[in-house]
Amino acid sequence: QHAKKNKKVYQVYDPQFDINALERLFLTNSLKQAIEENELVLFYQPKLCLKTMTISHVEALVRWQHPEKGLIPPDSFISIAEKTGQMDALTRWVTKAAVAQYVSWLEQGIDINIAINISAQNILDKDYPNFVIALKEQHQLRDNAITLEVTEDAVVADPEKATEILCFLYAHGFKISIDDYGTGYSSLAQLKQLQVQELKIDRSFVQHLATNENDQIIVRSTLELAHNLGLSVVAEGIEDDTALQWLKAQGCELAQGYFISKPLPAETLDLWMKNTPYHINKIEV
Ligand code: C2E
Ligand code: MG
Ligand code: MG
Ligand code: MG
Repeated sequence: QHAKKNKKVYQVYDPQFDINALERLFLTNSLKQAIEENELVLFYQPKLCLKTMTISHVEALVRWQHPEKGLIPPDSFISIAEKTGQMDALTRWVTKAAVAQYVSWLEQGIDINIAINISAQNILDKDYPNFVIALKEQHQLRDNAITLEVTEDAVVADPEKATEILCFLYAHGFKISIDDYGTGYSSLAQLKQLQVQELKIDRSFVQHLATNENDQIIVRSTLELAHNLGLSVVAEGIEDDTALQWLKAQGCELAQGYFISKPLPAETLDLWMKNTPYHINKIEV
């Protein structure tokens, strides 16, 4: 209580605080508008299946194309959306746009699954799960077409509720993935109970795999534990071929990172897919 009070008093005298407060207020008001006026845009980052060297999924990552400020990264406004009750609207927008893109790729004969990031708020409240289930049924999407990436904080905040909702989503054909695994406070035993199918090892353990022996030990034992529990593993943040080859040799299922591709707008990804040496699954249209 006291610490909080002191912090507040200190911040009033910090000119940086005023700027941030104004900035936040400004962003808060215009984020609502941005959602309504379609200023949000999705970039897509491929996930590579290491066994078949096929691009099996793409992850949708939101950006805000601000008329004056330019392209704003998600880390600058996701927390604002969370604190100002706009997470439901934001995630619905992202989900609709990502599903529309998935359907458009299918219509062009490109068979690629989609991953969507959802926040703790989205699973602790049944509105979003019902929305995404209805959308899947409306478009008659096959099971596992959509992966939902959630971070451990959702699970830690309310394990019972999280278990209930994630099981509900799993039963409706969604693949559940734990994002940034290793940075939170959940145990693998806890995650197994949740009907989680996939772990994404946080990039802080992956980026320096080529040279850091501790990271190699952490990743190797995470792979072993995950596999023994029947979970598949994605390594995020792969920045060089050494890390990619090492992960492949260790039996890691999926890989993602700048070495494979940065997140790209859909049109740019279309071009990338035409030129990549990796396989793309094609279907008759
Ligand atoms: P994330 O879901 O863990 O996504 C991975 C982030 O790491 C992305 O940043 C991606 O661009 C970046 N990244 C990927 N590969 C590499 C690499 O090889 N090296 C490095 N240094 N970075 C890499 P981005 O797009 O800025 O997104 C940041 C975070 O914002 C995401 O982390 C996710 O938690 C959140 N986010 C993004 N889009 C959404 C969304 O639609 N909804 C929600 N709730 N959160 C989102
Ligand atoms: Mg993610
Ligand atoms: Mg991540
Ligand atoms: Mg993250």
